[in-house]
Amino acid sequence: MGIISKGAKCNVEGCDQDGTRSLNTAKVENAGLRVNSSGKKTVLCKEHYKEWKKESKDDRDLERARFDKF
Ligand SMILES: [Zn+2]
Repeated sequence: MGIISKGAKCNVEGCDQDGTRSLNTAKVENAGLRVNSSGKKTVLCKEHYKEWKKESKDDRDLERARFDKF
């Protein structure tokens, strides 16, 4: 959560809202959100975090299915 306290902005393309959450960039991209973050962490604003949570529900199921195969 360190970068949030420095006033980081949302990393989603075209969004300049204040960030409220920082997440693993890969996880955000897997949920179908376009980010312009080059680091491991992506900052999301409240709205995009909500969107991510919604999208990542399906993602979690996929991850579980992938695990079952191994
Ligand atoms: Zn945003």
